[in-house]
Amino acid sequence: MEFLRPSTLVEALEARSAHPDGVPIMGGTDVMVALNFDKSRPSALIDLTRVPELTEWGTDGDHVRLGAGVSYTEVIESLSGAAPALAKASRSVASPQIRNRGTVGGNLGGASPAGESHPPLLATDAEIELASVRGTRKVKARDFYRSFRKTALSEDELITAILLPRATGPQQFAKIGTRNAMVIAVTSFSLALDTENRKVGTGVGSAGPTPLRAEAAEEFLEAEFDWEDGRPLAESVVRRFGDLVAAAARPIDDQRGSADYRKHALSVMARRALSWSVTDYRKESSRCA
Ligand SMILES: Cc1cc2nc3c(=O)[nH]c(=O)nc-3n(C[C@H](O)[C@H](O)[C@H](O)COP(=O)(O)OP(=O)(O)OC[C@H]3O[C@@H](n4cnc5c(N)ncnc54)[C@H](O)[C@@H]3O)c2cc1C
Repeated sequence: MEFLRPSTLVEALEARSAHPDGVPIMGGTDVMVALNFDKSRPSALIDLTRVPELTEWGTDGDHVRLGAGVSYTEVIESLSGAAPALAKASRSVASPQIRNRGTVGGNLGGASPAGESHPPLLATDAEIELASVRGTRKVKARDFYRSFRKTALSEDELITAILLPRATGPQQFAKIGTRNAMVIAVTSFSLALDTENRKVGTGVGSAGPTPLRAEAAEEFLEAEFDWEDGRPLAESVVRRFGDLVAAAARPIDDQRGSADYRKHALSVMARRALSWSVTDYRKESSRCA
């Protein structure tokens, strides 16, 4: 097995193009597990850890540009204000050791439907930046996940960055597992209220072959939510929102949970996330008034 260590993005893209059967490795928290269990024996490993563009983040107009190789720990420490849902999700990934190594780009590369990054990226309408020797393109998170563990990434491309719209309102992430840490989600949910554009975003994890959005729930809430009104949401609206999120899921029964349990858990998480978000939004609005 060849071990390639590019030190610039150009070298990394050339290596990717020359080795379509090779496997990029960033934190290695998925790749090394597959190698250790002999599930994968690639012709080459392309180590991306020395490529500076991948491990940096910064603001870019109205977006946070998060290099694909930025660790969860860095997201938690630096982006809790600018990207709250992703930071909350990052806190629930594995253990400190895995969070120090694991990256959002690696989560996208593996594209497990249970991956923690996906619901916040869907809810916040993030874009994924993909690059190859042919050029660079951006794909909306909502168009990135194609089928089970299959994505829009071509075999000569690398994920270079994630573009997160600046948060303009409350964002939530909730996850159900058998314990609080070191657990793969039974199911997870993220909600983002974009108070400037008056848009609602959702993301559902571990409840279908791909991460998915609850579009009917988004449309329902956009129609029902009075952004100016200071009162709490009617209980019937909260309940209907939860039902619509559960209805969007396409879960299976497996060793982590039954399809029915996942749907039930999603409706509960969605109701809670909505109530917390509306409370935060009303508080913030009255503080600014
Ligand atoms: C003990 C343990 C607990 C875990 N718990 C969780 C958890 O709670 N939640 C969760 O979501 N995940 C969990 N994981 C899985 C893993 O940590 C995450 O998926 C993590 O985000 C992977 O990031 P990485 O940088 O380590 O990826 P790597 O292992 O380096 O790569 C993962 C995949 O992405 C590809 N890849 C990496 N970077 C790029 C790039 N820039 N462009 C294109 N492809 C790329 C690789 O080729 C590979 O297919 C856990 C793993 C372990 C070992």
